[in-house]
Amino acid sequence: MPEIPEVEITARRLSAGLDGAEIESAVAPGMVAMKSFDPPLDALAGERVSGVRRIGKMPVVEAGELALLVHLMSAGRLQLFDKRASLKDRRSRVLVRLAGGRELRLREFGTKQRAWAKLLPAAEIDADEMVATLGPEAWPAPPLERLARAIDQPRHLHPMLRDQRVIAGIGRSWSDEILWEAALSPFKRGADLEADEVERLHDALSILGTAIDHYEDVIGDTVPDKLPMPLRVHRRQGEPCPRCGTTLEAVHYAEYVMTYCPEEQTEGRVLKDRRLSRLLK
Ligand SMILES: [Zn+2]
Repeated sequence: MPEIPEVEITARRLSAGLDGAEIESAVAPGMVAMKSFDPPLDALAGERVSGVRRIGKMPVVEAGELALLVHLMSAGRLQLFDKRASLKDRRSRVLVRLAGGRELRLREFGTKQRAWAKLLPAAEIDADEMVATLGPEAWPAPPLERLARAIDQPRHLHPMLRDQRVIAGIGRSWSDEILWEAALSPFKRGADLEADEVERLHDALSILGTAIDHYEDVIGDTVPDKLPMPLRVHRRQGEPCPRCGTTLEAVHYAEYVMTYCPEEQTEGRVLKDRRLSRLLK
């Protein structure tokens, strides 16, 4: 799932590759991909791409007075290709055709159609509900007091960090990494954190920047389908903790896995699948 580091490097590489590119046409083969209809997608024709930036986990393609806000969901990719896609490519959701035969393509892997885009007047992006409801960006980290206020809620840290309205840009992979870095239990409640724990969480957000630096080093002009994510604990259950050597444990959910170090994060306790144990009570 693309989160801040993955979307940031995508936006940077696309911005460099697309600078000034003229748009010839735009179509949405994924019938449900466009969540806006006015202006129509083809209003992009004739505009030049002025840049690609990131808001939370969403890339934004800017062209003239228009902006294409993209939500990649869990399996979407926004990529630049030298040649146009075959219209039979079932992964295509939105195609922005550029002069010279190149194409900016929103593709989605897997069978579900969840990724979406909205074409909006650039001046209205900030007012869009997906943008206006976002919490502060997780990277660069917000001021300590701002973070402390945002997470002062009686909610478990792991789902709360993934709630874009609380803090923007973190998903299932990087929440594991951040909580491990901060040595905090994923089931600790935000409102129960001591001041030094909030500080550790705040410091841990810097690993998002470290990941972006890593991508800058290892990724060329084109972002590959599968990014070399510098994850140290996420999905590494059964392996030794890179810091203390304890075997990493995981809680399995229907759609994802939460990995943690029991020695450093949960006072030695191995967590049961809480949802299952709740059902059995
Ligand atoms: Zn450990």
